[in-house]
Amino acid sequence: MSFPVEILKALSHCPVCHKEYKPAKLSILAEKEGKTLLHVTCEMCQVSSIVSATATPGGAICMGLLTDLAQVEGKRVCADRSVTTDDVLALHQRLATTHALADIL
Ligand SMILES: [Zn+2]
Repeated sequence: MSFPVEILKALSHCPVCHKEYKPAKLSILAEKEGKTLLHVTCEMCQVSSIVSATATPGGAICMGLLTDLAQVEGKRVCADRSVTTDDVLALHQRLATTHALADIL
């Protein structure tokens, strides 16, 4: 996978400790219509960020958010999967069980 040079330049340093990122700590979570969602972890301070990057003719537009999600968790969250009826029913049952336990205690 290759990134536009503008995006790589914008993602070259950690926003917290300002150390240079190691490419191995960068992972693509999702790509769609010219937009890339990345997970980056700093080897120095271990802070992770989720970054939305878009290459434009004038350069890259990047917006980042610090996160406590690991790369694997980020990929799972960003997986292109719709919520199903089974998901809603499972959540309903879980909440009902939680409320039933709360009534007992
Ligand atoms: Zn750092």
